[in-house]
Amino acid sequence: MYKYQKVYVNNSELNDRYVLSIDNHEEIVEALTRFCKEKNITAGKVEGIGAINEATFRFLDPATKKYVDKTFREQMEITNLTGNISQKDKEPYLHIHLTCSRRDYTCVGGHLLSARINGACELLVTDFGLTKLKRRFDEKTGLNLYDF
Ligand code: FE
Repeated sequence: MYKYQKVYVNNSELNDRYVLSIDNHEEIVEALTRFCKEKNITAGKVEGIGAINEATFRFLDPATKKYVDKTFREQMEITNLTGNISQKDKEPYLHIHLTCSRRDYTCVGGHLLSARINGACELLVTDFGLTKLKRRFDEKTGLNLYDF
């Protein structure tokens, strides 16, 4: 599903970092969730690039608190994937935003639900170590917010 190599920066042990290469045709959110479980990452961040042929985004309308999902099925370059890792109900909780470019160089993007790799997906995952970042559902906004 993926391969990874740990990153060492001098003798710094502030954060554990991994270069993560997810296999072709895998779904990014699913693979990254599995990696977080394997490494027991309870707080962190992720960034990366890659190529995909399908992406589903979710838009929350603040007025109605209703979700509108949209899927794009075409070959696209991930120009930016950025997100954070936390925990909800003791499971990894990924909050990822993705921007990708189409054949004509226009971009689409948003809050990522899922994306299917067609080519490669190269991520850098930073584990914040013993930090535990938890989330809970917030009635007012309809969002899963940090529970500090
Ligand atoms: Fe979001």
